[in-house]
Amino acid sequence: MNIRIICIGDELLSGDTVNTNLAFIGEELANRGLNVSAETCVPDDLDAIQGAIRQADGADVLIFIGGLGPTTDDLTRAAVAGYLGLQIRSDATLRQHIADYLGERHKNHIPDGYLDIQSQVIDTAELLPNDNGTAPGQLIRHNNALWAMLPGPPREIKPMFINYLLPKILEKRDSVVETLTVRVCALLESQVESKARHAIEGIPGLHFAICIKKDCIMIRLSKPAESAPQALSLAKQRLAKEFGHYLLPDECLTTAHYLGLLLKNRHLMMATAESCTGGGIAAAMTDTAGSSEWIVGGVVTYANEWKMNVLGVREETLQRHGAVSEATVHQMLDGLQQRFDVQAGVAVSGIAGPGGGTPEKPVGTVVIGAYAPHWRCVKTFHFNGMRDTVRQRTANAAINLLITGLLETQK
Ligand code: ATP
Repeated sequence: MNIRIICIGDELLSGDTVNTNLAFIGEELANRGLNVSAETCVPDDLDAIQGAIRQADGADVLIFIGGLGPTTDDLTRAAVAGYLGLQIRSDATLRQHIADYLGERHKNHIPDGYLDIQSQVIDTAELLPNDNGTAPGQLIRHNNALWAMLPGPPREIKPMFINYLLPKILEKRDSVVETLTVRVCALLESQVESKARHAIEGIPGLHFAICIKKDCIMIRLSKPAESAPQALSLAKQRLAKEFGHYLLPDECLTTAHYLGLLLKNRHLMMATAESCTGGGIAAAMTDTAGSSEWIVGGVVTYANEWKMNVLGVREETLQRHGAVSEATVHQMLDGLQQRFDVQAGVAVSGIAGPGGGTPEKPVGTVVIGAYAPHWRCVKTFHFNGMRDTVRQRTANAAINLLITGLLETQK
């Protein structure tokens, strides 16, 4: 099935907004064995939108994102209606629905003409409910193809796509491809790839894709539906055997969440001592509701004085080995263990850049330590990338290191 997307918005082209909606839709479709064939991003300009439509006309599914709002730069409806030679009409029921949605509270803040524009519907369009906003989606069937116009705000488009558009796209499939997606934590991509390929060897016809996600490695297997159920369930069993507890359970949204659950199952509480991540590890560990069941707190000890005063790192250690050293990180862990009496913890100290690097310790040098009962590990890592990337990778590596410790000690 040929699925194409047209994203509309000056802010997407200027870099003010990252096109997360494309990533979201692309991933949701890929999880169901469907691929986006092409995406075009155009400014809020009628000619540009219609030019993109001309190129995409002929796709089985054409999705428009954004430009459905009430301002003069919201041109999607006009562009599509104009291209197809359809009229736009005002829909009284929709107008009332939007007024009810906005309610008394907003009555005095609604600009003139807002309801007039938001209740415009292209002739023949079916409306897709907007559970989180005012502009409904609009769906047109054109030459046997589905043309769907969806609003730009992520909190609006996500439920609309999943609940109302996706089922219609799935109905259109002539051949169904089943997929299996698994996520592996605490291992390198190369290790994951070779182990996974080895595990599924001999299962015919599987399409294999591997991708580094922010905090784990994702493997996606797909296969045409007729023979898929047995093949994919066999693959799942083999991958589970190969990776064991390194597979993220489906209910875990992130690797940090998984670490939290491992700690909770072992009745352990953790704490963090962070330097270059500035609290990023604690933030990840508290992202999920219920996190008070696995983390007691964290300290950001950026300056040497704080490493000494809060965690008890010795001045002599800092002078002799430097703040970014395995000796210092060992003492940061000691501080969590002894001064704060916490059963598990992570500590990091590194040079996130862009300044501060030396020939011996270039930017991206990071020391990460973690401990759990009867286990401790402190290691030096070298991460490439800009400051943000180094900080993000450090936080992920710290979380993955403690996971490794917990899994190794539970064998
Ligand atoms: P509204 O009714 O809020 O005006 P809309 O359908 O007209 O919605 P836009 O005005 O184009 O959508 O965008 C509204 C918001 O959604 C903006 O903050 C915009 O940056 C964001 N947005 C639009 N498209 C995308 C996208 N592809 N990815 C992420 N955010 C997006």
